[in-house]
Order: sequence, then C-alpha cells, then structure tokens
Amino acid sequence: MGNWERSRELFEDAGRYIPGGVNSPVRAFGSVPMHPVFMERGRGAYMYDVDGNGYIDYVLSWGPLVLGHAHRDVVAAIQSRARLGTGFGTPTELETELVRTIIEAVPSVEQLRLVNSGTEATMSALRLARAYTGRERIVKFDGCYHGHVDPLLIKAGSGALTHGQPTSPGVPEATAATTRSCPYNDLEALEALFAAEGEQIAAVILEPVAGNMGCVPPQPGFLEGVRSVTERYGAVLIFDEVMSGFRVAWGGAQALYGVTPDLTCLGKVIGGGLPVGAFGGTREIMQLLSPVGPVYQAGTLSGNPLAVVAGHETLAALSEPGVYEQLSQRSERLSWGILRAAENAGVPVYATQVGSMFTTFFSREPVTDLAGAQACDTERFGRFFLELLRRGVYIAPSQFESGFLSTAHGDGEIEQTVAAAEEAFRTL
Ligand SMILES: *Cc1c(COP(=O)(O)O)cnc(C)c1O
Repeated sequence: MGNWERSRELFEDAGRYIPGGVNSPVRAFGSVPMHPVFMERGRGAYMYDVDGNGYIDYVLSWGPLVLGHAHRDVVAAIQSRARLGTGFGTPTELETELVRTIIEAVPSVEQLRLVNSGTEATMSALRLARAYTGRERIVKFDGCYHGHVDPLLIKAGSGALTHGQPTSPGVPEATAATTRSCPYNDLEALEALFAAEGEQIAAVILEPVAGNMGCVPPQPGFLEGVRSVTERYGAVLIFDEVMSGFRVAWGGAQALYGVTPDLTCLGKVIGGGLPVGAFGGTREIMQLLSPVGPVYQAGTLSGNPLAVVAGHETLAALSEPGVYEQLSQRSERLSWGILRAAENAGVPVYATQVGSMFTTFFSREPVTDLAGAQACDTERFGRFFLELLRRGVYIAPSQFESGFLSTAHGDGEIEQTVAAAEEAFRTL
C-alpha cells in the first residue's frame, strides 16, 4: 500500500483537459497534500484503484451506494433494462412505480417529479415555492449545501467550503440579494429574521440532518421550530433530503424526526448510483407545475429507465425488514469504535452519527453549526485521512463531508476500520 504512481500519472493527464483534473471539486483532495486516487472498480464495501490498492469505502459515491458497490440485483436490473433500450422520451410504467414507492414512504410527498440531479431538484423546488407564495426571498442555513444553484451558493457547504469559496463569484448580486442565511440549529436567528422580513420570504430550505459540513444533526426542537415559524408566516418549508432521504431512515429524516415539510428534494440513494433527483410535496403546490400549471420545469433524460430501475431495485432492497436498524447499529458501532480509538491515542475528537451518516470531527467541543465545524483542526484531519488511506480505508478527503455506511459493510470491515483508525490516530 502506498504506491499511487498510476493515479498520479492519470491525474496529471486529466488536468490538461479537465479543470483541476476532476468533474466535481469534492473529488480533488483539496485539504489533503496528495493527488486524487483514480478508482477502477468496486464490489460490496470495497473499491480498488488503478495501482491495485483496495479500500473499505465510506464515501460510496458521496452517498448513493447504500447497498455497496455493484450490488447484484441493481446491476442485473440495469443490464436487462438496457437491452430493451435506454430511453424513449415518453412516460414509462416504471417511473410511476418508483414514484409511488417514494410517495408511500415520504410523509410530505403527495406528488413527485423526477429530475437528473439534486441540484435540479432544489432549483425547481425554489422556483415552485416562489411561484406558490408570490414572494422572492429564500432562507438557508450556513454550511448547508443544496447543489450549485445560484441563490443557494451563499455560505454553502461541501466542496464550496473545502475549497474556500462558500459564496461563489459569478452569482449575480441581484440573485444573492434574495438569499438570507442563518446559523444551523439557531432558531432565535431564524425567528428574528422572520420578524423583520417574514412577509417577503418565499421559502426556508435546509438539510434536516446536515451532511455537507460533516454530519451535524438537528438539535431537539430545531426542526419543529422551523416548521412552526414557516407555517406562521406562510413560507414554504423545503427539506433538502438529497443526502438524508432513504439514508437516515426509510422515508428520510422527516420520517425519523416526525416533522413534515411542504416540499422535499431527493437524489443520491433513490437513483441507486445512477444520476437521479426528485422533488415533491403537497398536491396543491405540485399542481402548479407545467403542463398542469404555469411553472415551467423539464428534462430530456428525466426519469430515464436505467436510473429508474437502479433506484427501484435499491429501494426494494431497503424496504426489507430490519435493514435500517442494522445500518444504524453498525454505524453506531463504527462511530463509537473510532471515538474510543481516538481516546486511546489521546486525540480529542467529537463524533456524530444519524442512521448511516457519521463524522469524526477533530474538535474538543461539540459541533452543532458551521462555526463549530470550521473550528476543527483540518490540518490534522488531512493527516488522519492519509494515514487511513495508506491502511486501506477510504473516507472523504475533507472534514466538511459526512461518512456513509452500506449494507455491505459487515462487522469484519468495521473492526478492521477501527483498528486502522487507532493506528492512524497514534501517528498524529
Ligand atoms: C449532493 C447534494 C445536493 C446536490 O446533488 P447533485 O446530484 O450533486 O446535484 C443537494 N443537496 C444535498 C443535501 C446534497 O447532499
């Protein structure tokens, strides 16, 4: 382990043609002193790079692969579907089946439309909320990431944060001026904002479990409070469950915490590793969409058969009894194991975990918002990342990302990971 020569060559070559050598900034090792590793194949909990190194994978394509890599049923479904044609630009029966499954599971969703990415989902949900309320302003929370949608690239998390551009140049001032951002878990700030300009606020959008500044759970009462203030002022509440949907629980964070938004954005897991997004909510709001209503939204490849069967097969596997309990229990065991390993090595960390999302923050203090996440020792995190990589454990190359577990991660992988973490902590 530790030979990444072929990856280095490929990265140099990629950089000549692709900005930064990557097609999404999170793939660059922004906060790690190394080039990205080029992967070749995956199976279950493992993936293998072009130099022949294998890794236990806790990134899982940034969340979607909740069943692990190359799950037999998902691959078989994609193969047999592909033989029948990869798309028609017409409705297909499978789309309705997938959508019906989602509607039955996600409390807020009465109608749903499929798109191709999480970004498209949040962009469309915002447009719909603005049309529904006739208002323009939107409220988000610092460190939440909602895709690269102009008005949402204000104090954004994930790669925007890792690469030091949480508020992106190129977003028109007039667009940015419609966005307000509050500290996560800070109900008072939200109340004050609504007291000042509540009549002009179209929507509040948030990750009900924040995952793009590391995993930061909602504090007790926070989601309920956001629900109540939006209701009072007639603003649309949008849960961005692109990451948490069918990840923290069947039906997402709204099912787990019992708080129902007006609109919900989905992606990642519901596409089973293929490009998918979705947004849905009350029939009343969704009926504003074209061709029924006046709000335009469209997509050439939306609901394409390959992504839909991959998602359908994934949700079928997740609907088996006990799947989420086991995912949560194993994630908890892993999270506690890493925490104990850090304690044994005398490294102060703060661990969070909700369902199969988890983060080890290099912080003495609890992390409940962006300021807390940014106070972490990111340099130390970077060294920890490299030490794990050398030991065949692949976590996200940034402190500001969540870890993920899949159903393919067994007790053996967890023990191996905890042992690797303990060794890694001792080198810091
Ligand atoms: C990943 C993510 C998005 C963006 O989804 P893409 O498919 O990358 O466009 C939006 N919101 C959240 C919460 C996400 O985690």
